[in-house]
Amino acid sequence: MVDRHQKSMKTRIKNLSVILMITMFVIIGSIIFYNWKLSADKTIHRLQEDANRNIAGSIERYMDAPMRINKINQQIISNKIVDICNEKQREKYFSGIIKTTEETVYSVSYGSEQGQYYGTRRNADNQLEVMKSDEKTGGRPRYYSMMPDLTAGEMVMQLDTFDPRTRGWYQVAKNTGGPAFSPIYKHFVMNDLAISASCPIYNQQGVLQGVLGTHITLSQINAQLQELVKDKHVNAYIVERHSGELVANSLAFPNFSMTEDGKINRMIIGEMPDQSIADAYENYKKTDRADFIFANKNEKEHIKISRFTKEGIDWLIITSMPESPYVEEIKRSILLAILLSIVTLGSAIFIWNKTIETYLKPIYELIRTTERYSQGDFSQRAQLGNDDEIGKLAKAFNEMAEEICLLIDGLEKKVSERTRELEQTNYELSIAKEKLELSSQMDFLTNLYNRKFIIGRIEHEIKRFDRTENMFAIIMGDIDHFKKLNDTYGHECGDFVLKEIAKVMQKTTREIDFVARWGGEEFLILLPESDRESAAEIAERLRKSIEHTTIEYDKKRLNATITFGVAAYGKGMTADEVIKNADRALYDGKQQGRNRVSSSVI
Ligand code: GH3
Ligand code: MG
Ligand code: MG
Repeated sequence: MVDRHQKSMKTRIKNLSVILMITMFVIIGSIIFYNWKLSADKTIHRLQEDANRNIAGSIERYMDAPMRINKINQQIISNKIVDICNEKQREKYFSGIIKTTEETVYSVSYGSEQGQYYGTRRNADNQLEVMKSDEKTGGRPRYYSMMPDLTAGEMVMQLDTFDPRTRGWYQVAKNTGGPAFSPIYKHFVMNDLAISASCPIYNQQGVLQGVLGTHITLSQINAQLQELVKDKHVNAYIVERHSGELVANSLAFPNFSMTEDGKINRMIIGEMPDQSIADAYENYKKTDRADFIFANKNEKEHIKISRFTKEGIDWLIITSMPESPYVEEIKRSILLAILLSIVTLGSAIFIWNKTIETYLKPIYELIRTTERYSQGDFSQRAQLGNDDEIGKLAKAFNEMAEEICLLIDGLEKKVSERTRELEQTNYELSIAKEKLELSSQMDFLTNLYNRKFIIGRIEHEIKRFDRTENMFAIIMGDIDHFKKLNDTYGHECGDFVLKEIAKVMQKTTREIDFVARWGGEEFLILLPESDRESAAEIAERLRKSIEHTTIEYDKKRLNATITFGVAAYGKGMTADEVIKNADRALYDGKQQGRNRVSSSVI
């Protein structure tokens, strides 16, 4: 039997396979998990790079528009296609430009080295106006409604003294000597940040004539940022690199605020609700590192900073990306994968265990068969299944069992043969013994009982008498003149006569009587259930039978006579005494002339 305390082969195979499967599952799972995580990081990084690139491209296009307008204007004015001094021409030209530009361009203007200022603008109601400030207006800017023929109509507003040469956009162009952007400033009318693209105009001698300015608002960048990061789980910020002042953000967070006295208060990156952005900015300024991962309580945030520069502009594009939207999906996939793997693993273990049991079943059956066989049931045979190792083992066992059975059969046959021989010998021995026993009580010549036997019988009868008081008697007989017969006809003839007389005695006595040869030519007959008288009668009958029997020997006819002495057993007698009594009677008979029956007086 399989010891339950000891691990069976089946359990060991099962445990090993389960450990192997789980180990493989954990290793493969870890590799897959690690790769997923790596690919998630890479994906976030790539998406963030794309976002920053797209934002940079978008700002580029946004900021490029006023620069292009300036460039065209510069060509037209420098090449005297439009005479800036010709009022009508100039008005129509600038009106045409403002009409065809985006709404973000709120003003197109030209300031001269002499302090003149011409151009067009959109007013607070988004209506187009023609601007003029020169010696004719006394250096005060005047605003006129735009006529359908694009010339100045009625004056709608006049401001105090205005010198374009003092403006930032004018000075930046003058200082750089080429196209440049002004610093960011608050729009004069609208509640918005604004910036001006400016371009200096030189005469053929290279003397500065004036500066062209195309002025745009910046709030549209916010909208563009929002559009760009829509559905992408990205927040984007544009800040000025040196000051950290906010230019735009995708959160619809105000980029500036107004003080009560009408002054602008620019927001700085440190005031953003996401502290990680400020940390990344500070870190970037110190180390120039552009990629950051911040781990908050339950969120990881990837931050990327890229620089955007243009003439007069040094901005930073900062994007922040939470990890969860990307990892959540991975987490879900991993959970699903784990769940599926556990189900698969469970099924695999279940199927494996069943298969092991199926494979090992013939072995256990073989074990049962061998156990039963070893307990003595030699009819047990193993079932022959497949021709595999177990099948071969079962076949070998069956052959061995068959061989043992044959050996046992042979042994049993030999044993039974020997037993038979032994029985035969025993039988023969018992017959020999019986014969021996018989011969020890028989007389070999006459085939009558011998002297020893008849004494035993007399003693037996005496004991019986003692118990039952059943009478018995004996007759002693002696052939008359036997010596003479011997002498006359020879000893062999005497033997023959002895045998013939013995036959007559056997024939004439009863079944229950015992006839014995007492010795020589003397006989003793035991008569159970007889008294002296009946015994004497039997003796007389015997005497007559012998007397009348003619014995033929060697063509001679002979006659013999016999004398009998009869004695009955009397209480208290010994065997010897009763025999002596008979013998005495016999002697008397001889004395009285032979061939007669004489009874004992006692
Ligand atoms: P009586 O009438 O007085 O008995 O005379 P008897 O001759 O018979 O008596 P006796 O005792 O003188 O002789 C017995 C003889 O019987 C002697 C012996 O040779 C013979 N005899 C004894 N046993 C045998 C025997 O086995 N075979 C033969 N043939 N003769 C025997
Ligand atoms: Mg005698
Ligand atoms: Mg005699």
